[in-house]
Amino acid sequence: MAHFSRRNFLKLAGTATAAAGIGFPQLSFGAAKKVVIVGGGIGGATAAKYIRMMDASIDVTIVEPNKHYHTCFMSNEVLSGDRTIESIRFGYDGLAKHGVKVIHDSAAGIDAAARKVKLASGKTLDFDRCIVSPGVDFKWEAIEGYSEQVAETITHAWKAGPQTVTLRKQLEAMKNGGTVVMVAPPNPFRCPPGPYERASQIAMYLKQHKPKSKVLILDPKDKFAKQGLFTAGWKQHYGFGTENSLIEWVNGAQGGKASAVDAKKMSVTAEVEDFKGDVINVIPPQKAGKVAFAAGLTDDSGWCPVNHRTFESTLQPNVHVIGDAAVAGPMPKSGYSANSQAKVCAAAVVALLGGIETPQPSYVNTCYSVIAPEHGVSVAAVYRLGDDGKIAAVQGAGGLTPADAAPHMLAREVKYAHSWFANITHDVFG
Ligand code: FAD
Repeated sequence: MAHFSRRNFLKLAGTATAAAGIGFPQLSFGAAKKVVIVGGGIGGATAAKYIRMMDASIDVTIVEPNKHYHTCFMSNEVLSGDRTIESIRFGYDGLAKHGVKVIHDSAAGIDAAARKVKLASGKTLDFDRCIVSPGVDFKWEAIEGYSEQVAETITHAWKAGPQTVTLRKQLEAMKNGGTVVMVAPPNPFRCPPGPYERASQIAMYLKQHKPKSKVLILDPKDKFAKQGLFTAGWKQHYGFGTENSLIEWVNGAQGGKASAVDAKKMSVTAEVEDFKGDVINVIPPQKAGKVAFAAGLTDDSGWCPVNHRTFESTLQPNVHVIGDAAVAGPMPKSGYSANSQAKVCAAAVVALLGGIETPQPSYVNTCYSVIAPEHGVSVAAVYRLGDDGKIAAVQGAGGLTPADAAPHMLAREVKYAHSWFANITHDVFG
């Protein structure tokens, strides 16, 4: 057992249990076991750090192509000009301090039976347990004329980074009086309130700098997360529902489902008409990250079914899937969900490698959205493992920002959102 006293472990276990709401298994004192983690995003990085904190004898390697990770959360604030892209960029030095090895490469496939991850460079990594957290991939074919290449100019910006910067520059270059057309995705997708927070943040920028402009959301859905809170905020700050509204929402019943994009004409074809945009932002329908398909971890839904106690794939033994790619019952595809699932999975993996019973998990999610500079809203939920082995929401725990919340409470939610960001990024990468 490497440099890890029982006293230190207990100290750590106490802190982490309070944060994660999970019980920790005992330490394993056997020969070094190997865990390979595919994806150094929110789920993968959290799992790596927590495994090392729970049992420093385990050899943990992350495979991640990028040297830096940009958080999608708070990336909408880059669009409004409220924060810089640098403020959402994180490196892997913090994980190295926990003894996590990081290999900058891509996983091309996983052989669950042989317990090997094959890398794009041709190397292979052996594992006792593998954790996969590759995030989402896009169904490019769902919108005619849209592709990975077109997305360089007509961005999705649904993976934060260079496209976030491109979209911000396009908004800055747009004339006063211009239209930003946003295409929202069908369920299920990464960050259910995300498109509507994005529309709010863009409207925040337009209101101050280009007040004759507007954001038009084309949506295949008839309802969306925190809808009542969003529309109330939009009415208060952006004239929603009036002729001069800065935000317009065309829902599914009104023909909002987009089927094609014309990059030359800068137009989007929806069910009843074409919409021209000065800036277009297309968030395509989604599925699990590509490597999950290559590894045989997905079912017909395009997502990865897992055991909710351990996050072990129900299709491939010894391989666990967490975060956006996993089917996790009522938990939304969010960063906080990925972080919470990673802790549950880490505890299960440490227990399984130590040959002891996996702990009883609980899970948590909170999602903040900043609608205007002094107006934030949130939704929170706590989950437990039901007797049927499935994740279930704990009734009466969590909830939404009250519809009649006073202005000082809404302003406080913005502060909570920013402190949540500081806390979770430290928890994942610190
Ligand atoms: P990711 O964090 O995307 O990590 C996946 C990683 O895997 C990436 O680093 C990728 O490079 C790597 N990878 C992919 N394929 C391979 C491969 N083959 N080999 C090796 N590595 C690979 N969540 C919240 O909780 N709160 C919010 O306020 C919030 N706001 C959001 C706003 C926006 C605009 C968006 C788009 C999302 C937001 N989210 C928010 C959602 C959150 O970002 C995701 O749910 C979260 O990042 C999921 O974590 P993950 O580990 O599943 O995927």
